[in-house]
Amino acid sequence: MGDHFQTLVVQDVDLDEAAAFGERIRAILIEQEIVRPERSTECALGSEGHAPGARWTRAARSSDGEFPDGYATNGVVIEVGRALHGFGATSLVCPTCRAAQPMEPRWQDAELAYVERGEILVVGCEACGAAALSTDWEFDWPMALGALGITFWNWPPMKRSFVDDLAGEIERPVRMVRGKL
Ligand SMILES: [Zn+2]
Repeated sequence: MGDHFQTLVVQDVDLDEAAAFGERIRAILIEQEIVRPERSTECALGSEGHAPGARWTRAARSSDGEFPDGYATNGVVIEVGRALHGFGATSLVCPTCRAAQPMEPRWQDAELAYVERGEILVVGCEACGAAALSTDWEFDWPMALGALGITFWNWPPMKRSFVDDLAGEIERPVRMVRGKL
């Protein structure tokens, strides 16, 4: 069974404030018992994560309340650093008209500008001509640019209400992306 992940990408957060937002979210997840307070490298792939807590179903859907077994990796990892979160997309999708279009050649410049220098470029749509910030563009598979990602390894589908509540609590938009190794 391959490992899969869901990442909550916190938007409108600069790199220099990402760590503070990450700690706020860590505190919320621990306080609500969604994750266990201690950190471990055993539940995450090569990084420190928090194993699911007693009330993990506050964040993710469950039919029977049992965390799915069969995965050694089930931790929640808070990652600070500008990145394109998720992978697997092959096309850009315009946030205005929803037209799909090739990622290259324009996207690579926009992604590098963000990841390496923190610059948010304006990328125009080939179909409707509308310009959108690189951080607002969407894809044919959920991915997003951001400086803070909260990754849930091998968790059942996250609850939309949990994501919305978290976004409200920290007063920042949160986009959900996912992928599979
Ligand atoms: Zn468009």
